[in-house]
Amino acid sequence: MKRQIGLLLTAIVAVSAIAVLVANRPDPLEKSFASGDLDEYQLLARDLFRQLIEIDTTHSTGDTTVAANAMADRLLSAGFAADDVRVLGEIENRGNLVARLRGTGSREPILLLAHLDVVEAKKSDWSVDPFVFLERDGYFYGRGTADDKAQAAIWITNLIRMKKEGYASNRDIIVALTADEEGGDYNGVDWLLTNHRELIEAEYALNEGGRGAIIDGEKVFNSIQVSEKVYQSFRIDVTNPGGHSSRPVPENAIYTLAQVLLNISAYEFPVSLSVDTRTFFEKMAPTQPAAIAADMLAISRSPPDPDAAARLAKDPSLNAMMRTTCVATGLSGGHAENALPQLASAVINCRILPGESAETVRAKLTDLIANEEIRMTSIWDAVASNPSPLLPEIFASVENISDRMWPGIVVTPIMAAGATDGLYLRNAGIPTYGVSGMFFDFNDTRAHGMDERILVQSFFEGQEFLYQLVRELSSD
Ligand SMILES: [Zn+2]
Repeated sequence: MKRQIGLLLTAIVAVSAIAVLVANRPDPLEKSFASGDLDEYQLLARDLFRQLIEIDTTHSTGDTTVAANAMADRLLSAGFAADDVRVLGEIENRGNLVARLRGTGSREPILLLAHLDVVEAKKSDWSVDPFVFLERDGYFYGRGTADDKAQAAIWITNLIRMKKEGYASNRDIIVALTADEEGGDYNGVDWLLTNHRELIEAEYALNEGGRGAIIDGEKVFNSIQVSEKVYQSFRIDVTNPGGHSSRPVPENAIYTLAQVLLNISAYEFPVSLSVDTRTFFEKMAPTQPAAIAADMLAISRSPPDPDAAARLAKDPSLNAMMRTTCVATGLSGGHAENALPQLASAVINCRILPGESAETVRAKLTDLIANEEIRMTSIWDAVASNPSPLLPEIFASVENISDRMWPGIVVTPIMAAGATDGLYLRNAGIPTYGVSGMFFDFNDTRAHGMDERILVQSFFEGQEFLYQLVRELSSD
C-alpha cells in the first residue's frame, strides 16, 4: 500500500507510535514481551530504562549526576574498571557519564552518545505520572521514553552485554551520557570537548536523531541523521515617540512592525537541496503515490523543478527540508491602552540550512524590514553545524541490519529540522550520525509533550539493532 508522508522529518523530537501496529499486523519479529519471555539483556535494558525514567533529570528540579552515578554503578557491578567509568562535570547536579569498553585499538574509538536530561513535565498536564515508568497497551510511558533515555539505557545495556560476552572489538567503544542537551546553563558535550576531549575522542559518533518511521501503521523507512539545521533568533524593535491615543499620528510603532512582519511572512527562502536531502527524496519516491513520487524525483534533479517544489512545500515538514525558514514566534508592544505605542517588538526564529551563512539570512531580513531606523538584534547566535559525510561502512551496516530486521525497509539519510548535540561533535571534527532503529509514528508526536511513550516492541528492536550495528562497526 502506498503511504502519504504526513509529518515527514519534523524536528528532532518527532516521535510516537500507533497501537494498532502491534495489535493488527503480523510482524516477523513479533513476539511476546511479557517478563517471562524476555532474555537476560532485555530484562536488563528494561530495568535500566525504568531506573532512568524514574530519576528526575529536568532542568528545574532534576539531577543528571544521580542518573549518571546510577548507570556508573551498573557498569562497575558488571566488572568495568573504575578508571573506565567516570562521572564528571562542572555543576554539581549536571554530571555526565563517560564509560569505555576497551578493544584491541586497531581502529580509532567509536563514541555512543545519548543525553540524560529531559524536558520539563508537569504531572497535572499528563494523564499518567511522567516520572513513573509505566508499561501499558504495548507502550512504555514516562518523560524521556522517546527523548532520549531509551537510547541511554540501550547503550549501557549493550556495553554490559559486550563485556559479559567477552567481546573483543577492534576499537574502544565509548558511551557518553550527558547533561543539558535540552537547554540549561551549559552543555555536557561541549564541556567534555573543552575539558576532557581525550575521554571522548573518536573516529565518529552515533547519537539520537535518526529513527524509523511508522506511517499509517506501517514501517516505512529507517533514517540516519547526517546533518541538522542551524538555529538563530532575532529580535526586531520598532520605536516611536508615542503620545496620547486621542491624537493618532501616521507613524505608529505597531502598524510599522505589522507591515514588517507581513513582508517576512510573504518571503520564501530559495529551495536548496543538499546531497543528503536529494537522496532522501529519491529513496522516498518509490514509497509514495504517483503524483508525489514524480514531484520528489523532479526536485531531486538539478536545478530542482520549481512547480514540484511548490507543491511539496505545502507539507511543512518537506518545506523545512528544502529551504531556510524564518518565522515570527513572539510579539509585544505598547505600554497603555490609552497611549500611542513607543515600542513594538517581535521575535523571529530562523532555521538555517547547514552550509548557508547566517549573515546572508540576516541581510535578507534587513532587506525585508527596509527601514534603517528599525533595530534588529540577535538573541541567539547561530552555531554553524557542518554535515557529516555519510561513511559507506555506516550506511552499509545500517542497510544490512535494517533489511534483516525489517525486510524491504527503505534506509535513507536525513537532515533534521531541529537540533541535537551532534553539532558540537561535528564542529569539533567528530562526524556524528543519528541512528536508533527505534520506530515511531510520525503523526503522533509526544516527545517534549504530554504522555511521552515508545512502543515496547520498538524499544527492544532498537536494543537489538544498535547491538548489531556497534558490533559490525567494531569488528574486522
Ligand atoms: Zn533529545
